[in-house]
Amino acid sequence: MALRRLPQVDRLLREPVLRHAAERLGPAPLKTLLRQALKGLRQQIRENGIAGKELDRRLAELPRAVVSELEGRTRSSLTPVLNATGILVHTNLGRAPLAARAVERVSQAAAGYSNLEYDLAARRRGSRSTHLDRTLELLLPGTACHVVNNNAAAVSLVMRALATDREVVVSRGELVEIGGSFRIPEILEASGARLREVGTTNRTHLSDYERAVRRDTALILKVHPSNYRVVGFTAEAGVKELAALARRRRIPLVVDQGSGLLASLEPYGIRDEPTVLDYLKRGADLVTFSCDKLLGGPQAGIVAGRPALVRRLRRHPLSRALRVDKMTIAALEATFEIFLRGRQFEEVPVLRMLSRPVSEIQRRAEALARDLRRAPGVQLDVVVERGSARVGGGAAPTSVLRTWRVGLRPAPRGKLSAGRSGAGKLRPARSRPDFKLADLERALRLGDPPVLGVLGRERLWLDLRSVEEAADERIAGAVRVAGQLLAGEK
Ligand SMILES: *Cc1c(COP(=O)(O)O)cnc(C)c1O
Repeated sequence: MALRRLPQVDRLLREPVLRHAAERLGPAPLKTLLRQALKGLRQQIRENGIAGKELDRRLAELPRAVVSELEGRTRSSLTPVLNATGILVHTNLGRAPLAARAVERVSQAAAGYSNLEYDLAARRRGSRSTHLDRTLELLLPGTACHVVNNNAAAVSLVMRALATDREVVVSRGELVEIGGSFRIPEILEASGARLREVGTTNRTHLSDYERAVRRDTALILKVHPSNYRVVGFTAEAGVKELAALARRRRIPLVVDQGSGLLASLEPYGIRDEPTVLDYLKRGADLVTFSCDKLLGGPQAGIVAGRPALVRRLRRHPLSRALRVDKMTIAALEATFEIFLRGRQFEEVPVLRMLSRPVSEIQRRAEALARDLRRAPGVQLDVVVERGSARVGGGAAPTSVLRTWRVGLRPAPRGKLSAGRSGAGKLRPARSRPDFKLADLERALRLGDPPVLGVLGRERLWLDLRSVEEAADERIAGAVRVAGQLLAGEK
């Protein structure tokens, strides 16, 4: 009977392949996978009657198959990638890379004990919020701040603490979905607030708000259109006039600013993104924003504004569930210090990449192209073109950043691509390329490190606007390897 031929797990573990694997990868997970594999085999014997040679083959394969499964599962899944998409704040790619200084402080905070909630001077229990209050009071003078896990949490907390069972007035043009699964109407509903829509999709006037505010109104919410714009015949009530209305009716005006922009981007051609301070100055009572978009920090969210309101948020029981950990505090503290010294465009990666002169991107793109054209056995047709990069992450959706990008496609065998210098002679294509554009894209995406570009109809585009200069060489290396690999197989 075939079932009798299935070995015991303990006997299998004495086989050399598995004995070594147990030492390397741990005996417990290996046993778990072996049991699962044997169970699967048992089922197949019962259902499909596997026996004889087929069973021999399966049994012989089993140790190696289990070991490679375990190797796969214990290799780290979260892995660094090179972002050549030209989208600076890419939610799928982890949004903002941290500044070097922030990374260092996170590592210190993570590795040891700290005074997270201990007041060293007073020799008593302290508060984790004091670490950030010191700098935030200087960055956003006259306001108090409360830090939570992300901006979705910040908005939810505000609604829970200030608007449960009451109405929140929002323009129909701002009932939006941002970054998947953050939808204003759903956040309000989940917080127990009642949504009171005013105006229309394209036009909402101050008078619409005036008519909607009544005894039952908890607050007015204004949402910055982070990832869309309503264009054409439009009107919206400005923050200044809404703030005046809110003051007259003695309710708060809350603005969901979103991007966490602290320093104006006008010098870099981005004009439609007001900063957090702009909104506070125009009279918003509370402003909510993300810390891992244009603030360039770790995932977190901040509510900034009137101290009395912020105290109510802090006291709310939900705050405990939304609090940030020591690593986030360490990264934020370091990032805020960079802003205080005015060094954000040099030290905060997202802002550094955003502010690079376009001529510098062009120089780097051309150097990359030259390198790839010279690389032996690569078989790529390489061009350099102007392009437009984006901030991404739900910020400045209509603004484009000027950039240069490198376009790659498989070159037919025997064909050299013409360099800008004309060094390579363009000979008539003798044959079709050995591999397809999609193969190139896949090879780069699954390479080590993975390189992500934008797949067009004709070419794979690599935009260096979202790449730090120090990583150019790694991009070149990855493309050379992919190009040689593809040209070599067939
Ligand atoms: C990004 C964004 C959010 C969500 O912020 P998270 O930090 O991703 O939770 C909410 N509102 C606006 C306006 C945003 O731009």
